[in-house]
Amino acid sequence: MSLLSRASALALVPFLLVGCAQTQPQPDAAAASSAMPAPSALPGIDLLTRSEWGAQAPVFAMTPHTPDALTIHHTATPQRPERSPAETLRALQRFSISSDTLDDGRPKKPWADVPYHYYITPDGTIVEARDVRYEGDTNTNYDLTGQVQVVVEGNFMEEEPTEAQLASLVRLAGALSERYGIPPSRVGGHRDRAVGQTSCPGDALEAHFPEVLAAMQGG
Ligand SMILES: [Zn+2]
Repeated sequence: MSLLSRASALALVPFLLVGCAQTQPQPDAAAASSAMPAPSALPGIDLLTRSEWGAQAPVFAMTPHTPDALTIHHTATPQRPERSPAETLRALQRFSISSDTLDDGRPKKPWADVPYHYYITPDGTIVEARDVRYEGDTNTNYDLTGQVQVVVEGNFMEEEPTEAQLASLVRLAGALSERYGIPPSRVGGHRDRAVGQTSCPGDALEAHFPEVLAAMQGG
């Protein structure tokens, strides 16, 4: 996309948000203004918000839920520290809302939005992804209700999380535990939820789960 057309596209965003707020069944999810705290805001956590990374509104209605558990993922793709968090999230959202084919050949249906609620980039930036008040999405089979979906960028079957990512994951887990009363017993990796269906979040990230659990209330 040329700089000119990208600027034009960005200029349209406020108008699209206003339009969605008037016509969609979830006006509160689409109409967050910069004056209001993001619905996914957490005490003590500096988020890169959806408006800061240039998110578009969810493309169809999502399922409301009450967060009461935490599921941790890796992206299963190599870390790309050269890419800006905003660029990464816009690319992920484009993929998420499209039909596509997965690496294993299965079809991927379009999702309403990014499937995760929080995304941690290699430099440790914590990004606001899907509105945490709505269930996430998955290509595997498990109950998404109540699960806060946190993804750490990287393939942790093949590489190590950065120190910055680990520090952010521990802080985010602690803040989610404080905000929603999530105990250590309600924390797991994707492969703990969808047994036999995935290696996510990878051995090198799961090795650090004791630090995550220690940050939870009651941990
Ligand atoms: Zn996963």
